[in-house]
Amino acid sequence: MIENIDQLNIQLTSSLFIKPEYQIDAFVSGNKYRKLKYNVIEAESSGFSRLLTFGGAYSNHIAAVAKAGLSKGFKTVGVIRGEELEKKVSNNPTLQFAQRCGMQFKFISRGDYRNKTKPDFIHQLKRDFGDFYVIPEGGTNELAVKGCEEILTEEDKVFDFICCPVGTGGTISGLINASEEHQKILGFQALKGDFLQKDIRKFAHKSNWELIADYHFGGYAKINTELVSFINAFKAENSIPLDPIYTGKMLFGIFDLIKNGYFSKDARILAIHTGGLQGIDGMNKLLKKKQMPLIN
Ligand SMILES: *Cc1c(COP(=O)(O)O)cnc(C)c1O
Repeated sequence: MIENIDQLNIQLTSSLFIKPEYQIDAFVSGNKYRKLKYNVIEAESSGFSRLLTFGGAYSNHIAAVAKAGLSKGFKTVGVIRGEELEKKVSNNPTLQFAQRCGMQFKFISRGDYRNKTKPDFIHQLKRDFGDFYVIPEGGTNELAVKGCEEILTEEDKVFDFICCPVGTGGTISGLINASEEHQKILGFQALKGDFLQKDIRKFAHKSNWELIADYHFGGYAKINTELVSFINAFKAENSIPLDPIYTGKMLFGIFDLIKNGYFSKDARILAIHTGGLQGIDGMNKLLKKKQMPLIN
């Protein structure tokens, strides 16, 4: 995990720049590094030796917590959605990586997963694993938003639009809080859902933002051949890899909006590449099963 993370924006066209947060680390990637930073400091100063969090089978957040825990000297526990995955760890690149980092797993049914933050269940987990610092699913809380406020730097004040993918809304909340009045923050939803507006208002202190729900490709982690082709062409042209869940869909959306005249000709656009590249292997396994083209 590198700690000096002010990297130069990469210029793609006369108006579009990419902030390469994916270069922070292959696993504690992009926004997950930002979201964990102050949570790890808090866990440390409160005397915890174990981090516990929640996630799905291919979660970038699970991979990030596993590696951050390993490098910062914490034990880690991942509560994973889906009992059936317990026997499939060896076939799941994300869980395999987390396990190699020393993460212990608790696999639970989808029904139990909905109750995962209830006091009874947390008690049970403490009996099973010992005391722990809880990081919420997707990593979003006040401290995570504080970390994401550090994504933008002085130099970024020249941009008119700042674009990011949206999952739980923690990242966009940090960007909004760190933005200037004249800037507009565009969030590209990686999933369907009207709840996001409300979630973002819990953390964001300004109103210069908008969610764009036209590019989730049918929902979270849904993919089609058009998106795979776009990701592959984008990498071939710009030498920048995109992940299929978040950044691929955002860039697809930005290009489509540019084509449709959404931005004025002289608008300066900054897209935050939030990482997530560890998810490509897992997605390629699914694509292969469906006999679809793979992500290069
Ligand atoms: C988790 C994640 C997001 C979503 O971030 P939120 O703060 O949950 O909105 C975006 N991009 C990547 C690569 C992620 O891993």
